[in-house]
Amino acid sequence: MKTKEFENAALALFPKDTLAFFNDGNQYGFNNYIEKELNKIGYSVNLTPEIIKQANINHIDLLLTHHNVWEDYFELRDDCLRLLEEYGIIHFFNHLPLDSMPFGPTGTLANDLDLKVIDKISKIDKYAFGVVGELEEPITLLLLTEKLEKIFNHKVRIWNNNNRLVKRIGIVAGSGSDIESLFEANTLKSDVYITGEKKLKTLLYAKHIGLTIILGSHTFTELGGIRQYAKLINNEISDVEVIELKDEFLE
Ligand SMILES: [Zn+2]
Repeated sequence: MKTKEFENAALALFPKDTLAFFNDGNQYGFNNYIEKELNKIGYSVNLTPEIIKQANINHIDLLLTHHNVWEDYFELRDDCLRLLEEYGIIHFFNHLPLDSMPFGPTGTLANDLDLKVIDKISKIDKYAFGVVGELEEPITLLLLTEKLEKIFNHKVRIWNNNNRLVKRIGIVAGSGSDIESLFEANTLKSDVYITGEKKLKTLLYAKHIGLTIILGSHTFTELGGIRQYAKLINNEISDVEVIELKDEFLE
């Protein structure tokens, strides 16, 4: 498969208006674009020099990540771009368009928890990055914690602010520390709010409104979404090997 065919397959999964809305060059696209035959694709949440080195060891032709190597990363960006060039590895990233899709990080996590989505939260324009969903039967916070740690293969952190059984859950995978998303989740009667990152004000506000917070880390709340995206691309282009690279736990 050629790079152009990969691009077509990777973007065909999105509505045209979504791609047009987020078309600022930073939310999806390529770094180190090379038109060549692709045999092996590796994916991860973040692009770092360590991931690029892993990709090189694994003979990856194209690295698929959720996050771009953002322009304000200074020398981190320069070093990543230099390494991609040095190893001849193509980088394709898909950030906010992926975040807005049912197969993106939030949607995949909701699905993994068997939630019935009842509403969407955390929107830019009509594009939502979060959901509120309902479990079929209420469960204890302990059981929910166990389920999440199994999904993430990693410990979570909890601020229990209500002692209720859990029936409704708000999710904003990744960076959902903003008060507005908590407000929306609470207005929709969520018992728990799951996200990847917090600020002090997130915790102060959550405590005040009695909304339990579960923090699953930015990287691990989003890993399921990029895994699902890689799988869907692989369904379209099966003559390529797709492997998961190992994101380091930082946040
Ligand atoms: Zn993210």
